[in-house]
Amino acid sequence: MTFNELNIMPAILKALTKENYTSPTPIQEQSIPAVLAGRDLLGCAQTGTGKTAAFSVPIIQLLSEQTSPNKSNNVRRIRSLILTPTRELAIQIADNIKAYSQYTDIRSAAIVGGVSQKVQERALNQGADILIATPGRLIDLINQKRVDLQYVQILVLDEADRMLDMGFIHDVKRIIAKMPTKKQTLFFSATMPTEISKLIKTLLVNPVKVEI
Ligand code: AMP
Repeated sequence: MTFNELNIMPAILKALTKENYTSPTPIQEQSIPAVLAGRDLLGCAQTGTGKTAAFSVPIIQLLSEQTSPNKSNNVRRIRSLILTPTRELAIQIADNIKAYSQYTDIRSAAIVGGVSQKVQERALNQGADILIATPGRLIDLINQKRVDLQYVQILVLDEADRMLDMGFIHDVKRIIAKMPTKKQTLFFSATMPTEISKLIKTLLVNPVKVEI
């Protein structure tokens, strides 16, 4: 299987080639067609399997293919939100997304705790199509009305069980409440404790299940 056979657009193929990705990993083979088809996804995959590209490549492609209704007046809306438990994971995902989208028109920004909010606000003010965030800092910015999630079309919950363990589940639920109900959701969790199963039931519609 090649990325070309997965119908990846030329601008992303060029970036993957530059990153020396020659063929998709198993989770990428399973996830990319499902996400491109607009399906919800339930993934039981660990970091190290190529999970980041499995969700971010098709998101970049779906958003690139849309002619943004707001482009004419140069306003970019957050159309995809990626929630992840730690600052390290958020930065890693953001770096990967920057690499995969370098030949596209897609812009991304990261919102994490422990660094100056000013710098992150500047990135937000410049406009981002994809926002990568840890729940705590994002809640702060939502409360300050500096982030608007009402245009989010694709939500990713990465390492959901770790967000639960770290006590973020309340924040996550509050963040989800700020988004439209109708959206595509990609949910990743290594384990399925009751709280997580409940969240999955309320969030996912007929998901494609991917296990590695
Ligand atoms: P992840 O599980 O997303 O953290 O990815 C683990 C590592 O594998 C990262 O360093 C990625 O850059 C790399 N990687 C992901 N997909 C591929 C691929 N298809 N070919 C080669 N390397 C990859």
